[in-house]
Amino acid sequence: MNLILLGPPGAGKGTQAKRIETSFGLIQLSTGDMLRAAIKRDEPLGREAKSLMDAGKLVPDSLMINLIASRMNQSDCAKGAILDGFPRTVPQAEALDVMLTSMGKKLDAVIVLEVDEPALIERVSGRFTCVQCGAGYHDHFSQPRQAGVCDSCGGTDFSRRPDDNAETMKTRLAAYRQQTAPIIPYYVEKGILQTVDGMAPMASVEQEIAAIISKYMK
Ligand code: AMP
Repeated sequence: MNLILLGPPGAGKGTQAKRIETSFGLIQLSTGDMLRAAIKRDEPLGREAKSLMDAGKLVPDSLMINLIASRMNQSDCAKGAILDGFPRTVPQAEALDVMLTSMGKKLDAVIVLEVDEPALIERVSGRFTCVQCGAGYHDHFSQPRQAGVCDSCGGTDFSRRPDDNAETMKTRLAAYRQQTAPIIPYYVEKGILQTVDGMAPMASVEQEIAAIISKYMK
């Protein structure tokens, strides 16, 4: 099955996608992660995207559509994908429909994680990840068991995203409200939108999402 996890920055899309991908044999496709990898490798796409990302603005649709199209064509997406961070505009949502149809696939569900905006700035400003394995932590909500050492791999190097700060978050939230939220009615009309309370504890959010996916994967 192919599904979209939708919600503002900090809603928990990435965290939840990582938790559920292995249990269902789906692949998490995070366009934000792909762009950050392109920046790290100093690819042309990364150079084009970096200043926009640092400012909290969206990268042009044409670039994002090409990026996701070439990724979805790869064989590891055969069983299905969890789209995390794509689509973010109505033209991206429309292009996704065309792309999936041409691949003989379809979009089964769109799950919106509903969260209170004030909580998002706190969630995002405190987060950091292990450079070695990508495990996620938070200054207030989930510190590593031993300070400075990753619980998962023992790594001691951590990084913070340059756009995870209160100032840039204001632009990212505005982009969500103005450019991304309009895709919600697009999917309501198609009858495939489901909402989950993203303010609930992480484990219950995961359970709710898993229950939705299970219905499609019987
Ligand atoms: P994320 O990791 O999903 O929070 O994305 C980080 C940043 O990457 C966003 O603020 C945008 O600048 C850019 N980005 C990621 N996905 C998209 C997309 N589908 N369309 C446009 N820009 C995107």
